Amino acid sequence: MIKTASMPLIVTGSIGIDTIHTPRAKAEGILGGSCAYFAAAASFHVPVRILAAVGGDWPDAHRQVLQRFDNISLDGLETRPQSKTFAWGGRYFDNMNQRETLFTELGVLDEDLPPLPEHYRDSEYVFLANTHPANQTALAGQFPSRKLAVADTMDLWINIAQPELLQMLAGVDGLVLNDAEAQQLTEINNAVSAARKILDMGPTFVVVKKGEHGAVLVHRDGLATIPAYPSEHHQVVDPTGAGDAFAGGMMGHIAAVGMTDFASIQTALAWGTVTASFVIESFGLNRLTEISRRDIDERMREFQGLARVG
Ligand code: AMP
Repeated sequence: MIKTASMPLIVTGSIGIDTIHTPRAKAEGILGGSCAYFAAAASFHVPVRILAAVGGDWPDAHRQVLQRFDNISLDGLETRPQSKTFAWGGRYFDNMNQRETLFTELGVLDEDLPPLPEHYRDSEYVFLANTHPANQTALAGQFPSRKLAVADTMDLWINIAQPELLQMLAGVDGLVLNDAEAQQLTEINNAVSAARKILDMGPTFVVVKKGEHGAVLVHRDGLATIPAYPSEHHQVVDPTGAGDAFAGGMMGHIAAVGMTDFASIQTALAWGTVTASFVIESFGLNRLTEISRRDIDERMREFQGLARVG
């Protein structure tokens, strides 16, 4: 258990039943989803609350995986016996940097959010992981003591729910997305310029992730860049969830220190990078169930040495 004076962090997003094909292996029906990856990663830094729904088809084994993380609260996870769990399939190409979506079955993501448990109302740090932007907006507005709300999004929502996405962006402090999504949203083929255009849509900062090339932070108060953790080919088993785990490590650190200024967010990017570097070493959440905070701290020290400039 982590003992800190950290501020409550809440997340909504998808809890998915994933099927993943990589050039070397295939995993069928495993626990995934933006919310699951985010919560597991953040839980190494602070306690994290989940508000999400699953259907009657959700395997008990998946619940048991989430229960292995001491710092995850499942009080806001609603099971809807008549509904279907979100399901997603993806296939990675040879270089493991690019993938295609094979299928997306929205299931409960097409329904309203569950009601917020009363004891979640004091949440101060809010993460809107990938899900329908209307539900992201619905969650973001429920916290009287909110200090920071950050969102993620992806191609599907840019394609099918752009008006709701723009409405969501107008009400959040930060957005995390990858370079292809930033280009799709802004029609600008340059990460920094695309991020600047997104700042005009509402957020105070934008983090553009560039896979093995790291990430860039574009903030109203400044600009920062961070390299990726240099994983080797044989270490990359399944990149799924790296983006969500990056956000989990980042938000977990911000909530742990209780600071939202530019420098704190810049440091948080390093914690996000290091936390995410473990996720890709196995399918699903497996690697995260094996490690402890000490492993993350050790790799952070190594990363600080690797990333030193000047
Ligand atoms: P990432 O690799 O970080 O982009 O996240 C992959 C996870 O996102 C997978 O576990 C999927 O279940 C989930 N996912 C895929 N598409 C969507 C979507 N349109 N909305 C919400 N979650 C999604």
